[in-house]
Amino acid sequence: MGIIGTLFDIKPFAVHDGPGIRTTLFFKGCPLRCAWCHNPEGFSPLPHLVIRPERCIACRECFSACPEHTPVMETTLHPTCRLCGACVEACPAEARELAGRTVTVEEVMAQVLKDRPFYEDSGGGVTFSGGEPLAQPEFLLSLLSACGKEQIHRAVDTSGHAPRSVIADVAAKTDLFLFDLKHMDSKAHQRLTGVENGRILSNLSYLATKGAGLTIRIPLIPGFNDNNNHMAQVGRFLTGLATIPTVHLLPYHSYQKRKYALFNIPCALPEPDEATDRRPLEAAAQLEGMGLEVVIGG
Ligand code: SF4
Ligand code: SF4
Repeated sequence: MGIIGTLFDIKPFAVHDGPGIRTTLFFKGCPLRCAWCHNPEGFSPLPHLVIRPERCIACRECFSACPEHTPVMETTLHPTCRLCGACVEACPAEARELAGRTVTVEEVMAQVLKDRPFYEDSGGGVTFSGGEPLAQPEFLLSLLSACGKEQIHRAVDTSGHAPRSVIADVAAKTDLFLFDLKHMDSKAHQRLTGVENGRILSNLSYLATKGAGLTIRIPLIPGFNDNNNHMAQVGRFLTGLATIPTVHLLPYHSYQKRKYALFNIPCALPEPDEATDRRPLEAAAQLEGMGLEVVIGG
């Protein structure tokens, strides 16, 4: 078998994950735990069993199918569940789902190539997202090479929290990084993402020095990083880079709350405040005043 990896979704016709119409590949596993994450199903590198009780018609097919005799409706994390997926196959009501599956590079490319005409017409391509794509470097590098051979544009959506050697290898095969910048203060960064930011800022400086294609994505999180003082720090850092990147400001919303319940993951999403709606425009004006090109939205 060729190189394999774990994805939790493949989204065709994506229009917010880089230029043009794209296929976005969501890699499973991430070293960060951002409190506002939209894709908590990407946290764990392992597949995850999701149960939607509101769809259940109480047919008990899942009980019969389960080879482990796991109490199938009890919890998504029961210790005897080995994530075999038999109950998912058996369920007639789509009340059960395995988030995350192991796939080969060839399987992924077969799907990616189906939409090649859309990439060509729109200036799009493939975006590697997650989770954190750099957390599966061998799989990512193989897919980047395969897309490169097909002359498909490649964007990597990353937190930048990865060893320098991985960043360098990936940069050699990537047309555009969608690089998240969350907080300039390392302790604040650690408080809401679980990791300090030293490696991330260092990797960002490195990519700018190498002339990599870079778009900086800043999620505006109420009470965390959306204030004027922090935006001034962001502006000073970015205008000091060897290549000054475009900035995309991502407005805050908390729609993803339901997902946390679905995946049985504790939710610590910040609440919007009265300034949340106007902060993107204010922050954009501030950064533009410092000489940066700013876009609001993905
Ligand atoms: S995934 Fe497999 S082991 Fe887990 S509950 Fe379903 S059938 Fe049982
Ligand atoms: S198979 Fe699906 S619909 Fe039937 S009891 Fe199990 S979860 Fe409910």
